[in-house]
Amino acid sequence: MTAPSAGRRYVVIGAGVLGVALTARLAEAGAAVTLLEQTRPGHAATRSSFAWLNANNKVPRAYHDLNHAGLRAWSARADGFGRPDWYRPSGNLEWAVTPDAGVELAARVSRLADWGYPAHLISAAAAAELEPALRLPPTVTAAAWFPEEGYLLTEPMVDALTEKAVQSGATVLTGEAGHVTGLDVTGGVVRAVRTHASQVIPADAVVCCAGRWTPELAALAGSAAPIPLIPWAQPGAEAPGLVVQAGPVGPGGPVRMVHAPDVYFRPHRAGQVHLEAPDVHADLHTGEPALGDLASELLRRAQRVTGGLDRAEVTGYRVCVRPMPADGQSIVGWLPGTEGLYVAVTHSGVTLGAHLAELMASELLAGVQQPELAPYRPGRFSALAS
Ligand SMILES: Cc1cc2nc3c(=O)[nH]c(=O)nc-3n(C[C@H](O)[C@H](O)[C@H](O)COP(=O)(O)OP(=O)(O)OC[C@H]3O[C@@H](n4cnc5c(N)ncnc54)[C@H](O)[C@@H]3O)c2cc1C
Repeated sequence: MTAPSAGRRYVVIGAGVLGVALTARLAEAGAAVTLLEQTRPGHAATRSSFAWLNANNKVPRAYHDLNHAGLRAWSARADGFGRPDWYRPSGNLEWAVTPDAGVELAARVSRLADWGYPAHLISAAAAAELEPALRLPPTVTAAAWFPEEGYLLTEPMVDALTEKAVQSGATVLTGEAGHVTGLDVTGGVVRAVRTHASQVIPADAVVCCAGRWTPELAALAGSAAPIPLIPWAQPGAEAPGLVVQAGPVGPGGPVRMVHAPDVYFRPHRAGQVHLEAPDVHADLHTGEPALGDLASELLRRAQRVTGGLDRAEVTGYRVCVRPMPADGQSIVGWLPGTEGLYVAVTHSGVTLGAHLAELMASELLAGVQQPELAPYRPGRFSALAS
């Protein structure tokens, strides 16, 4: 990693996966960096994430490659932490039960294999051998195995990266002390960050990793540059999703990432499974008892296709919001019109976190423009708006 310019002060806003991964990288490189978090590290999108590490259905090719690099970056980062338990390169199994879904899966596997991504069509028997817990239906039309994929346990991952940042010299402020309420801009240049605790923190570069709050934070700097995200607040909005935890998982339960046609699941902490479903919609307005009913439905679906959950009950569920750029691609780079303000907001932020942290750190520390990030610059939306 390039050495930081002497005396440059960095402030990172938001301690989700992007903020903690970046802060750790900046601090490890010797930079003076303060991480500000309004609640607790990792308690927004990152905590609830399905956290599937993949470049499985990411298009176009450049975005696929960015995500594939994300898998390799986590592997390298995990090596640096002594292959911790929060890094789970379990592989991913998927199957289809209708002719159309089987054709789509086979076509996707073929495209991914052509792109050099480990993806294989396998028999139902081979799938059952890889994941003995599965109760595959006789109607399977195609099955696939993606050996390089996996997942992260995000809470211990965030703890580990935050600790690494602090050990490397970063300052981490949370709660009122970390809640950003203002950005001081003079002459079009960001000079300082103000917090709810009335602290004014001088900054030479401010990096906004605030997930779905990123547009609000940019507005605090008086920026007119658009950062369009898929709406999340109103009823029916697409960005929120329901996540469910269930347990206990008995002997012979699932050990890998699994995508069945109507439910997705993987092992979670403390003998639980983490569940999601592609067709179940909930948003921030969905109330009880609807949410509880949906959570129970997800568990029933999982119980139909895997062993180990016969005694399981729903232990928790939550609607959470995915930070989703409007065009589906990451938004990373200096915000036009406000010198010193850098933003990073993306879906698939868990997959991308370790790699984006490397790329962003080299841009911030050495002023190097990373060509890999060229398609994702915030300026693309200003160009559309003008
Ligand atoms: C249900 C669900 C499933 C997902 N599945 C996957 C998946 O399988 N694979 C994958 O790669 N990605 C997945 N994602 C996406 C991924 O989780 C996100 O892209 C990633 O967590 C975003 O991280 P972040 O650091 O950008 O944002 P966040 O984790 O949201 O963190 C932003 C932080 O900024 C803080 N903040 C905001 N405003 C302020 C302020 N004024 N002052 C101080 N702090 C502030 C917030 O408190 C928060 O902690 C999923 C997301 C969800 C919700």
